[in-house]
Amino acid sequence: MSRRLTLALPSKGRLREPSWALLEASGVAPQEPGERVLQSHCRNAEIDLLFVRADDVPEYVQDGVVDCGITGLDLVAERQSNVEVLLRLGFGTCSLQAAVPDGDPAQSLADLAGRRVATTHPHLAAKGLADGGVAAEVVTVAGAVEISPRLGLADAIIDLVSTGSTLRTNGLRSIGVLFESEAVLVGRSSDADSEARRTLATVLGSVVAARANRYLLCNVARDRLDEVTAILPTRGSPTIMDLASSGLVAVHALVPAADIWSLLPRLEEAGASSILTLPVERMVP
Ligand code: AMP
Repeated sequence: MSRRLTLALPSKGRLREPSWALLEASGVAPQEPGERVLQSHCRNAEIDLLFVRADDVPEYVQDGVVDCGITGLDLVAERQSNVEVLLRLGFGTCSLQAAVPDGDPAQSLADLAGRRVATTHPHLAAKGLADGGVAAEVVTVAGAVEISPRLGLADAIIDLVSTGSTLRTNGLRSIGVLFESEAVLVGRSSDADSEARRTLATVLGSVVAARANRYLLCNVARDRLDEVTAILPTRGSPTIMDLASSGLVAVHALVPAADIWSLLPRLEEAGASSILTLPVERMVP
């Protein structure tokens, strides 16, 4: 990298650990900050780290306090920050959903017309409702949105949901999705795409892509090779190599991690044996 890059990382909350793990996996060797210290650096790359709340990252990047940052896409959209999303990071996935108490008759967003809705995301909530042509009153709360209906503060809520267990625990039922979010790497929109920023996006992107894939190896009789390659969900061409035992070939391919569980029994049926799957460390397409 040609000059030092400053990167803001979430100092606490849900995005903290996975952001740190991503940096570690990328090999830049982030150094733990000392107690109560908000700054640190990376040992293997010219990157300075600043630890701030995920909510504050969009503003720090927009104002040029740091070059790049990791935060939630919902926070960028809620603050309407003038930043560029450089990379989707594949963790912190959640969606902004409207929910009502179990006994409420509402079935969809349209049923919120004329009602009060509590949220910590007033901009995204108002936009989602307006996009659906729903005129509802949005009440902004700072936290614990899910108890608002029980407190009589609102009829419904619009809140971030990942597993849905918080909704269920609080006797709430989802009636619609307004926004899909995940953690993102952002940079200042007005910055030219510097070499340092491109390098960071490429290195983190190689880990994000690798996590979503597995390297698959298997053996198959040459006369059944077409059956095996036909079911491989690979984008590129698989590697085929002759084995010492005549008539057998080895197939190597990169496959989406999410497909592995359904693929293995089908490969066996197609005549594959000695099937191995390995994690991939880096992947630059
Ligand atoms: P924090 O409040 O610091 O824990 O971080 C909140 C951010 O984590 C949100 O802005 C989202 O981007 C992300 N997130 C992922 N899943 C959830 C969830 N179930 N509830 C709230 N935030 C979530």
